[in-house]
Amino acid sequence: MVPLQSSGGSLPRHVLRQNLPMTATPVTGGAPADLPAAGDRLVRGACPHDCPDTCALVTTVRDGVALRVQGNPAHPLTDGVLCTKVSRYAERTYHPDRVLTPLRRTGPKGAGRFEPVSWEEALADIAARLSAIAARDPEAIVPYSYAGTMGQVQGEAMAARFFHRLGASLLDRTICASAGGEGLAYTLGAKQGMKVEHFARSRLILIWGSNSVGSNLHFWRLAQEAKRAGARLVCIDPRRSETADKCHEHVALRPGTDAALALALMHELIVHDWLDHDYIARHTLGFEALRERALQWPPERAAEVCGVPADQIRRLARDYGTTRPAAIRLNYGMQRARGGGNAVRAVACLPALVGAWREPAGGLLLSSSGNFPVRREALQRPDLLAGRRPRVINMSTIGDDLLRPASAAFGPRIEALIVYNSNPVAVAPQSSRVVQGFAREDLFTVVLEHFLTDTADHADYVLPATTQLEHWDIHAAYGHTDVLLNQPAIEPLGQALPNTEIFRRLARAMGFNESCFGDDDETLCREAFGDAVDWQQLLAQGFVPLPVPDAPFAEGGFPTPSGRCEFFSERLAQQGLDGLPDWLPNHEAPGTDARYPLAMISPPARNFLNSTFVNVTSLRDIEGRPLLEIHPQDAAARGIVSGAMVRVFNDRGDYHCEAEVTERARPGVVNGLGIWWRKLGPRGTNVNELTSQKLTDLGRAPVFYDCLVQVEAG
Ligand code: SF4
Repeated sequence: MVPLQSSGGSLPRHVLRQNLPMTATPVTGGAPADLPAAGDRLVRGACPHDCPDTCALVTTVRDGVALRVQGNPAHPLTDGVLCTKVSRYAERTYHPDRVLTPLRRTGPKGAGRFEPVSWEEALADIAARLSAIAARDPEAIVPYSYAGTMGQVQGEAMAARFFHRLGASLLDRTICASAGGEGLAYTLGAKQGMKVEHFARSRLILIWGSNSVGSNLHFWRLAQEAKRAGARLVCIDPRRSETADKCHEHVALRPGTDAALALALMHELIVHDWLDHDYIARHTLGFEALRERALQWPPERAAEVCGVPADQIRRLARDYGTTRPAAIRLNYGMQRARGGGNAVRAVACLPALVGAWREPAGGLLLSSSGNFPVRREALQRPDLLAGRRPRVINMSTIGDDLLRPASAAFGPRIEALIVYNSNPVAVAPQSSRVVQGFAREDLFTVVLEHFLTDTADHADYVLPATTQLEHWDIHAAYGHTDVLLNQPAIEPLGQALPNTEIFRRLARAMGFNESCFGDDDETLCREAFGDAVDWQQLLAQGFVPLPVPDAPFAEGGFPTPSGRCEFFSERLAQQGLDGLPDWLPNHEAPGTDARYPLAMISPPARNFLNSTFVNVTSLRDIEGRPLLEIHPQDAAARGIVSGAMVRVFNDRGDYHCEAEVTERARPGVVNGLGIWWRKLGPRGTNVNELTSQKLTDLGRAPVFYDCLVQVEAG
C-alpha cells in the first residue's frame, strides 16, 4: 500500500494562497520538505460528510498519490482548518481494508465472506436479478441511501435516474433532519436563516441542541470570536458536552422538553413585555393565539417538565429579551424525540417575538440549505417515472418494512435493496429488527461501499465505490451559503468506480438506453446549479458564495404562504394538527415505566461522523471503546464504576459497553455515544439495539433520543 505522510500537518497559508488561483496548480521552485515540492499538485475539493460546515478542501498530490488533505484557507468559513476526522481523509482513502474489486457473497448473510468477481460478471448478474423482480413488480426493489456523501452528483443524480426509470419504490429520507426541517418550514417557510458569519457579532448566542465543538467546528470559531468580543454563550443540551464546558451557562434540560422551555421563554417575554410589537404586527401571523398558548407555560411548569430551575429559565428569558443582537444556533439534536417538529417550531418563533431578525447578527440558524437553487429535476429526472407513482418507504422504519409481508396497504414484499451512501445496519433504529431484515436469505442486497461495513457484510454483492478524492461532485451546504466544487485529486483506486458510473453501467446492463444515462460527471456538476452559479469561478476558486441578504428577514418576507413568520400555521391546522407549537411528551417519557427509569440519548462520539470513520484506526484509538456516560448518582445506585462493562437494555434489546461515570450525564439520563460499527463493539451490538422505530410529530423521522433504558453492571 502507498506510504503516506502524516495528514495532520498544516500547509502554510501563504503557500496555498499563492498557488490556489489555478486548479491543480503545479507548484514550482524549491520548497522545504514539508511544503509542496516541484511537480506536486494542489487540488480543490469539498468535504462530503454530513456536517453543516461543508469545508473547502485542498489535497496535495505527488506522483498520483494524495499526500494530505487540508482546509482551503481561501474559503472564508473553512479558513484553512479541518476537523480531526477529515484531516485523516488520506488515511481513510488508502486504508488497507478498502474494497477495491466487486465482491460476491460466499457465506451466510452477515458473515462478511465474499469472493472477488469482475465488474462484467457482477453487473450482468445484478441486472438479471433486478430485471426478474421488476418484471413482477418494480416496487419490490428499494433504494436505500442518505448522506454518506452530501454531494449532489454522487448522491441522488444518476442513482435517482436509475430508480425512476426502473419504477422502484421511492425512499422517504427522514433519518436525520426531516422533523426539524418541516418544523422550520411551517414557521419560517424554508430552511433558511442567519448567515453563519454574522454570529461573530452577536451579543448573546443560544447554542441549542448542538455540540458545536464536535460537530459544527467552524461555527464554534465564530462563537468564540463573539465571546472574545463580550458575547454571552448559553448551551442548551441534556448532555454537558465539550461545548457546554466552554459556554458561560449550561441549561441541562431533559431530552424532548425543548418546546416546554421555549414556551416558558415566550411566557416571560410576554409578561415582561420584552417584545418587538412593531415587528410582530408587521411580520408575524397568529400572535394572539400564541400568546394564549405561552401564558399557560409559567417557568415553574416548564421547570417541572424540563428538570431545570425556574430561576434559570427566568434569567435566560431576561437575557434573551433584553440583549441585542441575540442569535440562536439550533441544531438537529433536539428534534430526535416525539415532539421534535413542534420543538423546532417553538424555538423558531422566538426571534420574531423580540425582533431579532432586524439585525444580521440576530435571528436563528438551523439550516441554510433552502437557499441553494439545486436543479433537482434536471439531476434526478423524475420524468423517467413516466406517470408511475411508486409507493414510498420510510428509511427510518426499514427494520419493520424488510420484515413486512405483501399486503394491499404495504404493496409487495421488499425483494431487493440497493444501498449506497449509508450503513443502515449500524445507523437505523432498533437494529435487531434491521439485522433480522437484512439477514433474509430471500432478500437480494447490493451495497456500494468503501469498506465492509455492518451493512456490506449482509450484501449479495458489494460494489467498490470511490471516495471524495477520486471523483467529481458539487455541494450545497446546510451551515453556510457557498456552493463548493469537488474535483478529483487522484485516479480511482483499484477497480473502484464513482456511484454515478456504477448506476450508468447498471442502467446499460438493464437495457435503459435514454440519453441521460450517458451524461458524464462534469456535466452533472454543471447541471446541478445551471446558470445560477458561475462555473468558471467554481473551477478557478473551488467555491462560489450565493447572493443571500445579510439580514434575510429584517423586513419580513418570510417564504411562507402568508409571507410572515407563522406562529399559527393554517397548513398544519388543515391537516388536523395543532396550528400552534406545543410541547408533546416523549413516546417514552421518564417515569412512565418503572422497569426502565433512565432516558438515553445517543449523540455522536467526537471522532466519528455517524458511522463513518469508526474503522479509521487512529480515530478509533482516540475514542477507545463504546461508552455510556452515566451520572455519579445513577452509577452509585447501581454499583457501577468508570471502566466497568455495563449492560444497557430495554424491551428491544441489550447493548454492552463501558461505563464512564461523569457529570457529562445529567441525573436520570445516560449518553450512549455513537455510532460504533456493531462488529467493532463488544458482543457485536451498538447503541441502536435500544432505539425504537417510533416516529416524530412532523417529518416522519426517528426518535433516537426518546428512549428509556435500564443499566446494570456486567
Ligand atoms: S466533517 Fe465538517 S468540520 Fe470536518 S472537514 Fe467535513 S465539513 Fe469540515
